[in-house]
Amino acid sequence: MAPLSEGRAAVYEEPLGPPGVRVQARPRTAAARGDVAIAIRAASINHLDLWMAHGAQKVTPPRVIAADGAGVVETSGDPRWKPGDEVVVYPVVCDWVCAECQAGENVKCPHFGVIGEHSEGTACELFHVDARNVFPKPVALSWEEAAAFPLTFLTAWRMLTTRARLQRGEKVLVVGAGAGVAVAAIKIAKHLGATVFATSRSESKRQRAREIGADEVFDSADFGKAVRAAGGVDVVFEHVGPATLGESLRSVKQGGRIVFCGSTSGVKAEIPMFRVFWGQLDLLGSTMGNASEFQAVLDAMDEGMRPVVDSTYPLSEVEDALKRLDAAEQFGKVVLSIS
Ligand SMILES: [Zn+2]
Repeated sequence: MAPLSEGRAAVYEEPLGPPGVRVQARPRTAAARGDVAIAIRAASINHLDLWMAHGAQKVTPPRVIAADGAGVVETSGDPRWKPGDEVVVYPVVCDWVCAECQAGENVKCPHFGVIGEHSEGTACELFHVDARNVFPKPVALSWEEAAAFPLTFLTAWRMLTTRARLQRGEKVLVVGAGAGVAVAAIKIAKHLGATVFATSRSESKRQRAREIGADEVFDSADFGKAVRAAGGVDVVFEHVGPATLGESLRSVKQGGRIVFCGSTSGVKAEIPMFRVFWGQLDLLGSTMGNASEFQAVLDAMDEGMRPVVDSTYPLSEVEDALKRLDAAEQFGKVVLSIS
């Protein structure tokens, strides 16, 4: 069945920005056959939730927000899970039965979507989801950390490994270092043994990027020249788009790869074509990731990789949590503590 959000929940009701998301109570039920009902301990929000709150996504309210959730199994309609199991949610909507899903390519499913955008979301007390979306919580992570990593680490993992084929010893440039997905990219690239450059407009975010492992940091203004002076990079991790793409193209070495998961600064960009063909460059698109890639992220967490929690708000203060994202003040993930 499609995911269900029950109990107290953060519901997008009107396209007013953060004030349009309000806490409402819904009746609670037991898990249907094939589903697991999870008592959510923590959820986290993404830019997607903010765009939805601003009415920028094709979503008809009401809709419970958030893709990321971690909690304790309350009831299970699947023998693989039992009450009390500590779990995290794979944040992808798919049908699990088509040829692509059967081949492990969930991202190519005709019913592909994101939890909290194409279905009800995790910002609620009791979340029902297909048992195939349920994975064991990495034991070393706090509830806030377990809710902080799924969407951003899944996205960044697929971008850097499957798509950009990042190798140990290569250099990667992560633009816009405060965003959740960029912080995940820094952590993953270091975990994979790469040298990491990062950019930010903010001195404090550049400092934070260094603290979590970036080897060199650059101001966002005209960063291409400085990155080239430092030898250039093999891979650029892009999520900003038009505002940074020109500098990203200047930063990459011959034969390098630029991988994108979004374009927060606008939908259209101009590309100097000669840089792409003369530079033998690959421009790679990517969205979310497969269940096998989610498992790889969980394995990396067991090996010591950690997400970065910016701040935690109680569910009742979801409006303030969304405002923090809206102000672009965060470094890492904004988490909702549910129970
Ligand atoms: Zn499918």
